[in-house]
Amino acid sequence: MTIRRTLTLPAAAVALAALALIARAQQDKPKVGFQDTPMLPGGKWHVHDGERPQPPVVTPGTASTPEAAGKAPSDAVVLFDGKDLSKWQIHGKEPGWKVEDGAMVVPPSGTPNGGTITSKDEFGDCQIHVEFATPDPPQGRDQGRGNSGVLIMGRYEVQVLDSFENLTYADGGASAVYGQHPPQVNASRPPGRWQTYDIIFHAPKFKADGSVEAPATITALHNGVLVQDHVELLGPMAFRALARYSPHGPKGPLAFQDHGNPVRYRNIWVREIKAPE
Ligand code: MG
Repeated sequence: MTIRRTLTLPAAAVALAALALIARAQQDKPKVGFQDTPMLPGGKWHVHDGERPQPPVVTPGTASTPEAAGKAPSDAVVLFDGKDLSKWQIHGKEPGWKVEDGAMVVPPSGTPNGGTITSKDEFGDCQIHVEFATPDPPQGRDQGRGNSGVLIMGRYEVQVLDSFENLTYADGGASAVYGQHPPQVNASRPPGRWQTYDIIFHAPKFKADGSVEAPATITALHNGVLVQDHVELLGPMAFRALARYSPHGPKGPLAFQDHGNPVRYRNIWVREIKAPE
């Protein structure tokens, strides 16, 4: 009995103190909003409802300059901050890609452990920020000039290409969904300049029988300019073929294509999109 009392009394005191604190916090909380307003569809919240949960606070990132990469927002998963390739792999091995001057660079053909570089983390619906620079001076033409690609879930490609005064087929240029959707405009910077992709990706959903319940969608900005406006994908990247879905899980890695051109990448981060409450 004695032991029990010595344990429960302090516990009760702590609980009471906590309750008092919560009550005080409720009292001190400034009153905002309304509850005498019409209900929003869904029947959960009034218009301007003061009790509706506040959005989480995120410290925004900083913008990049030609000289230096910016910082990611506080809630982003940073996949590359200019230092090392610890968040990446190629077929389970350390990548043969190089890190030079704060950038990760597609290696020359034949480099051991070259090829498509893949993040160790996997993502479903997400916001992706990528910066890239195509080789300067430029070499080659058409699809042979500064070719790489952002492969979302390892399979849905937003094309990376030097599309500055370089003719190629429309659905194969920079910021095209390769083989499917040309960008609305060509917002490419010249070779060697840093460029940005900001991509909102929604993963496809599959039914139990493997058929498509909802296709993947992409919204993308190239150098801050809207190039893809919630386009629906026919399937993964395909060359000279019609893309077709094969069912897969809800998450996959981010990958960058090695097309044999020394394209550079920096400031790579991903924010998972959480379904709204
Ligand atoms: Mg490509």
